[in-house]
Amino acid sequence: MDYRQIPAIFVADAPGLDFLNSVATPVDEEVDWISDGEGFLAWLEQAGMVPPAALAALRSQSTRAELDAVAAQARALREWFREFVQKRKGRPLTARNLRELAPLNQLLERDDGYGEIVADVTGGVSPFEFRANRRWKSAESLLMPIAEALARLVCDEDFTHVKACEGPRCTLMFADHTRGHARRWCSMAICGNRAKVAAHRARLKEQENS
Ligand SMILES: [Zn+2]
Repeated sequence: MDYRQIPAIFVADAPGLDFLNSVATPVDEEVDWISDGEGFLAWLEQAGMVPPAALAALRSQSTRAELDAVAAQARALREWFREFVQKRKGRPLTARNLRELAPLNQLLERDDGYGEIVADVTGGVSPFEFRANRRWKSAESLLMPIAEALARLVCDEDFTHVKACEGPRCTLMFADHTRGHARRWCSMAICGNRAKVAAHRARLKEQENS
């Protein structure tokens, strides 16, 4: 199914996992929201990961082939990281896992970030606030906010509560931040209802057979 027909899915409660969920099967057919350069730009916009002005500038500066190439890099990064998360989810990460993350560190090294002092409108102790910015020099810089989201996932999340949806054919993942860590579904709308309907059908069948 074409990604243009359906909004991207943001149910993971962690941007790094939302990125893994940029390919999914929300109904019957698989949808890859970053299957080409235009899709990648649209997904980044929906994710709020790149300022709209930077997206517009890169869209006009880059050729279609350059944008498609960076989308391909993003898909490769996504599938590499999916393997890591699938292998490590459900229990805490350990310092030994750092070696496996070397490709992510290599990508982070290329980031062109700079800091800026700006007025703090929230009324803190100082009238200023420190803001982290990034230079958007080429289409490849679009990978940087994603690299940052993946890095934050391994640095800030307890992998014990990183879960895959229990929906039988669902591939969505999420960070379970509920109080009792009892979340089972990507979302009630996608898989929760499907499970309810299946359970209801099974009960009806049992009644018929008894
Ligand atoms: Zn699901």
